[in-house]
Amino acid sequence: MEKMVDTGSLGAIYQKEATTFRLWAPGAQAVVLHLYRTGSDREEGAQAAGEYVLFDLGEGVWECSVFSDLHGIYYDYVITRDGKKVRTADPYAKACGVNGQRSMVVDLSETNPEGFMEEVRPVIEEKDIVIYELHIRDFSIDPASGIKKEFRGKYKAFTQKDTTLDGKGEFPTCLSYLKKLGITYVHLLPAFDYASVDEEDTERGQFNWGYDPLNYNVPEGSYSTDAFHGEVRIREFKEMVQALHEEGICVVMDVVYNHTYSADSWLERCVPGYYYRKNPDGSFSNGSLCGNETASEHEMFRKYMIDSVCYWAKEYHIDGFRFDLMGLHDVETMNAIRGALDELPDGKRILMYGEPWFAKEPPMEEGAVPAIKANLHLLDERIAVFCDSTRDAVKGSVFSREIPGYANAALLPIRPVDLEGKIAEGMETPEKYLDVISDIRHSVTAWCDGEGGFLPKAPRQIINYVSAHDNYTLWDKLVFTSGKESFSEKYEDLLEINQFCAGIVFTCQGIPFFQAGEEFARTKQGVGDSYCSPDTINRLDWKRASEYRELVSYYRDLIALRKKQNGFGSFEKPEPEKVAFLQAEKESVLGFLFEKQKMVVYYNPEKTPEDGLLPEGDWKLLFDRSGICDGKEQIFRETVRLMPKSVVILQKKER
Ligand code: CA
Repeated sequence: MEKMVDTGSLGAIYQKEATTFRLWAPGAQAVVLHLYRTGSDREEGAQAAGEYVLFDLGEGVWECSVFSDLHGIYYDYVITRDGKKVRTADPYAKACGVNGQRSMVVDLSETNPEGFMEEVRPVIEEKDIVIYELHIRDFSIDPASGIKKEFRGKYKAFTQKDTTLDGKGEFPTCLSYLKKLGITYVHLLPAFDYASVDEEDTERGQFNWGYDPLNYNVPEGSYSTDAFHGEVRIREFKEMVQALHEEGICVVMDVVYNHTYSADSWLERCVPGYYYRKNPDGSFSNGSLCGNETASEHEMFRKYMIDSVCYWAKEYHIDGFRFDLMGLHDVETMNAIRGALDELPDGKRILMYGEPWFAKEPPMEEGAVPAIKANLHLLDERIAVFCDSTRDAVKGSVFSREIPGYANAALLPIRPVDLEGKIAEGMETPEKYLDVISDIRHSVTAWCDGEGGFLPKAPRQIINYVSAHDNYTLWDKLVFTSGKESFSEKYEDLLEINQFCAGIVFTCQGIPFFQAGEEFARTKQGVGDSYCSPDTINRLDWKRASEYRELVSYYRDLIALRKKQNGFGSFEKPEPEKVAFLQAEKESVLGFLFEKQKMVVYYNPEKTPEDGLLPEGDWKLLFDRSGICDGKEQIFRETVRLMPKSVVILQKKER
């Protein structure tokens, strides 16, 4: 580790009477600031608006102040180094012009929607956390979404209330739908300014997930109604957050500090060779498989990440952060971010979680430890990770489309076979399948026994899920593993398995997470990597949501039950007696007694009804294949009948 550089605040520090520009560019011979009227030279009114020389303050910091109200003025720098000149936008910019090529000076107080300064993040108890992963364009681009045309695919779509399918007033869509579903956190795919969509022409149906960061501290322009005026996207982003907060829904941002769109980034142009990891031969290391990887263990990039995350939390009222390829960041940085968020007002409630892996092992500096699953015990207890172990145990590996898991294998004989009776690839032995059963047991206790080769400090470190934007949707995976032909046909048996998977995710200890649309059997027609697929593949199909409303209702019941029953198990480290395993005749049928809540949960993965044994006493049925049981009270003693492919939940009846 190098010594800490004290640069003070960086970027364009706005005051009405003067703006101070401060850039970290050690080793530069000269830095010149250029001001412009517009974000590009192609716009009407394009004109240079001044040129100022920055002064070297030492420690690599360059500064100048311009005494005028610069709100809405665009800028960039020309840096001279080794006699060569390079143009760059400001890596610390808070606003930018179209396509993020020039930065913009902004008076942030002018960007707040009415009431934004007074609004606070919704209070969501830990037991009520349910995360819904959503892409901003997918959410509302479907013409059937009921969103007005000019808001479709935009931040603004979140602000339109009482929308229904085709505007017919029957089936709720978008924000109304989310509210009814009961999810408590919307996790947005990248919404910072990314490079892969041309903001000058968003009408021609471009799509990208957005994992290609250009300006980390600026919202993406293609989701705003006007990408040419830098303040508009800021205001509309805030309106989106405010609208979600008004419905009691928190907002998580997917942040991608692990690489930049191009290695020729603003960061690299300001300080060549500093922000990225390099191979011994001097080339850029590529742990992201996106061409480069940043070096969080370098002091000034660590500071950059901390400042950026805190800025989004403070300025935009963001309630959580999801770190892409967190395994490319070091543990010290992740814990430092946690510490910095905790210092903010109400900051302890800001969620942090990430992908505890990398695409390729990073050449970190000596002493730095990657934030991967195996190092989970070194991370703060309030930094959670996506649990691929649970994911793959429930529905099979994401790396092979045919391999099933606990929920979608044909289980008789006790080994997974496809419909033709062939043993599924990768599951050649009964032992392999027994491993899957044992993995499900570990999943229920959030792997806190350490048997998975990693050791969570507590269940709150585990995010349970069976689908996310990467890889096949749950429905498509179920179609593949069942050997069926069509993604569009409504297969009743697969719907049962879909329910069964969700039932497991929601009854395991830890935090439940699902991809938007999993609850209506979302299909991408078998496309596993839809990062730039057209809207027809990626958009939420609101007609389908209506057609699969029984599945939606099952998810709604699961969410409601979780909230009512204080989650399942505990978020603290469970004592050994907190979850007891129950017996059933078949090894594949798993039962658990959550002692604190006096609840029994059974999983029956078989295609036949099975019996599960109950502990002593009377047990009231709370939940089965048809959702919450709120009709006539059904009491079971000693055994309970478990329908095929069902999650069954009972609670002890107190005398
Ligand atoms: Ca952009």
